[in-house]
Amino acid sequence: MRLKDIYQKSKKPAISFEIFPPKGERVEEKIDALFEELTILSKFKPSYISVTYGAGGSTRQKTLELVKRIKKDLNVCPIPHFTCVGLSRPEISSYLKNIQELGINNILALRGDPPKGEEKFIKPKDGFGYANELVEYIKSSTNLNIAVAGYPEKHQECTCLDEDILNLKRKVNAGASVILTQLFYDNKFFFEYLEKTKQAGIDIPIVPGILPISSYKQIERIISLSGCKVPDSLMEKLEKYKDNKDDIKKIGAEYAVKQCSELIDSKAPGLHIYTLNKSEATSVILDALNL
Ligand code: FAD
Repeated sequence: MRLKDIYQKSKKPAISFEIFPPKGERVEEKIDALFEELTILSKFKPSYISVTYGAGGSTRQKTLELVKRIKKDLNVCPIPHFTCVGLSRPEISSYLKNIQELGINNILALRGDPPKGEEKFIKPKDGFGYANELVEYIKSSTNLNIAVAGYPEKHQECTCLDEDILNLKRKVNAGASVILTQLFYDNKFFFEYLEKTKQAGIDIPIVPGILPISSYKQIERIISLSGCKVPDSLMEKLEKYKDNKDDIKKIGAEYAVKQCSELIDSKAPGLHIYTLNKSEATSVILDALNL
């Protein structure tokens, strides 16, 4: 199904999952384990499963392999992520061709982060400097439906949220159908984002990205990578129980249930859950939400 239709036709909030291609040793075993987790999650009838594209294209082929297998083994719509880091137009064109040859209808189009060791994103020769240029190119050369990234707490490189939203609008004007957001823990930021994007004339679905907290180390890492703010009351609880893994998982899942219920009550078009390739936390949340 096309992304546009998924959110237009779904009577209930559309549930989607994000996974990443496993890396390191014994990758094939890890992929089999991942598909066991996805099989468990299939009972929630996800509208799609999106597959990340490793920084700098490091998982280019694996992303496509997983996309193929999601379609074939799970009969679920897969959405490959794609960044324009280090690629020229002909290289981008050839990758888009591969995607279409797999019978894929949708793509998440991203600029990507600067390669390791580089502070600023440098536009590749004959390539693109921003995601809106990539979206425009995909729109003009393929039939793919396009999702783009949004940042309720603003993108780290941007000096202010209003400017970041103007840049988001460029992606919408270029042909994006859906916005998937960066993870956040305080719904206040998402609700303010909805208001501001509406004022900016953005009228496509904005789907909140949810990452259930499953370990204390993980949340420390996420805060430092994404710069997202965690409400004081939640942080205090996590700190209090940081030495007990089970308690942290329970606190994380309870918080995610509360967060997701509030989002659904406020008519969010869906929930995009960052599964980290595991089914446990996502299952606890979706069972509790009874979706
Ligand atoms: P852009 O939309 O191009 O924005 C980048 C910065 O430039 C922003 O600060 C923006 O305000 C500014 N900007 C945008 N357009 C213009 C313009 N025309 N002129 C001036 N300034 C402009 N990364 C991966 O490597 N692989 C993944 O699979 C992946 N998946 C992701 C999934 C989601 C849902 C999200 C939210 C992010 C994901 N990322 C992924 C991270 C993403 O690649 C980085 O956040 C990257 O730094 C920005 O990508 P973008 O597409 O948002 O860029």
